[in-house]
Amino acid sequence: MTQVQGVRIEIINTGTELLLGNTLNTHSAWFGRELFKLGLRIARQTTVPDGDAIRDSLEEAISRADVVIVTGGLGPTSDDLTREITAEVLGLEMIMDEAALRSMEAFFAVRGLAMAEANRKQALCLVGADSLANPHGTAPGIYVPPRLNSRSNCAVFLLPGPPRELYPMVHEQVIPRLRALAGVEIVNEALVLKFTGIGESSFHEGVDQRLAAVPGLEYGYCAHIGEVDLRLIGTAESLAEGRKIALEQFESFLISDDESSLEETVVRLMAARGMKLALAESCTGGLISHRITNVPGASEVFTHGFITYANAAKSELLGVSPEDIETHGAVSETVARAMAEGALRASGACIAVSVTGIAGPGGGSEEKPVGTAWLGLAVKGEPTKAYKIFHPRNRRDFKLAVSQAALEAVRRKLKGI
Ligand code: AMP
Ligand code: MG
Repeated sequence: MTQVQGVRIEIINTGTELLLGNTLNTHSAWFGRELFKLGLRIARQTTVPDGDAIRDSLEEAISRADVVIVTGGLGPTSDDLTREITAEVLGLEMIMDEAALRSMEAFFAVRGLAMAEANRKQALCLVGADSLANPHGTAPGIYVPPRLNSRSNCAVFLLPGPPRELYPMVHEQVIPRLRALAGVEIVNEALVLKFTGIGESSFHEGVDQRLAAVPGLEYGYCAHIGEVDLRLIGTAESLAEGRKIALEQFESFLISDDESSLEETVVRLMAARGMKLALAESCTGGLISHRITNVPGASEVFTHGFITYANAAKSELLGVSPEDIETHGAVSETVARAMAEGALRASGACIAVSVTGIAGPGGGSEEKPVGTAWLGLAVKGEPTKAYKIFHPRNRRDFKLAVSQAALEAVRRKLKGI
């Protein structure tokens, strides 16, 4: 199954808000993923402000591409000019699409609203183009097939900006047309292997040369906090070979091969074993509990999340001795162990993990610099373990790194690593 290379697709995202940084341009990533599933790739993506700027980009894009997809600017206001400018660039007249106008009137009527005069222009279509129904909003999309216009052989889609309108329109009306245009029957295969507990460069050193030698395999790395993803694209055989190489070296670090997150993996492993988890969090402030409870089915495995930020809370809720806190400090092996054991006792779970650390920027010392954290892992009927970790980062990233290490400690325990 190989990549369809023949069709050049360009995306133009319009919207001043995208360039001011007010709205994150999620359309380009979303299109990248959706088109990839069809075996197609975006050759170029351009973001332009509202208004006249779309003209140059569209002229350029239609001269290079087989398919141009424009998002946004189909609204009723004076800066929504995508439709008008496209008509001009392609040399096509605009015509009122009566059916689209009627469904727009119905859209307002069922909501008990009067349709403003300005909305009428949203029902304008280009002569010979298809109007793409929009059941989730007012602006229909527009599809200009190739060779309709005298300027190029390029097919052009004009699509609404709001994701709740765009996504269904793409699935229902754009993808079938793209399939036909591209003659796509075959679909790319891709595999993402997620690893944790190993740095990107060590990972790279371990596999890169061998991956490079696999015929027909495209691969890439993506590092996140506490995680390295290996992306493999290619034939079924080359994927199997790439996977074998990565796992030979790093199987014990594998989170998933199906894009599951670490917390999803932990919940799945615990549920499969009928085990319950409790958490005692200090420096992560509930982040680990948040991550676990983001996973559907968390209620099967998660019993308690104790957020014991103050020393008194550690003593009151988890039974950590105030003398131990006084003698060793709240960020210490002794306190991490006592927190985990206290959580195990109080919850009745089979596994409890605790974290206590110094997020900074203040509060560090020579002995315990900012970024230091202790994890405790208490398992029913087994001696408690504790681990020291060090992630000197900003508070947010520190919390994420510590939560990753805590979940990883649970994963390793469950895997018997
Ligand atoms: P528009 O159709 O241009 O009026 O877009 C309406 C709304 O859709 C904007 O206010 C954004 O909230 C959203 N939107 C438009 N383009 C994008 C994009 N590229 N990424 C994410 N959201 C977008
Ligand atoms: Mg806009």
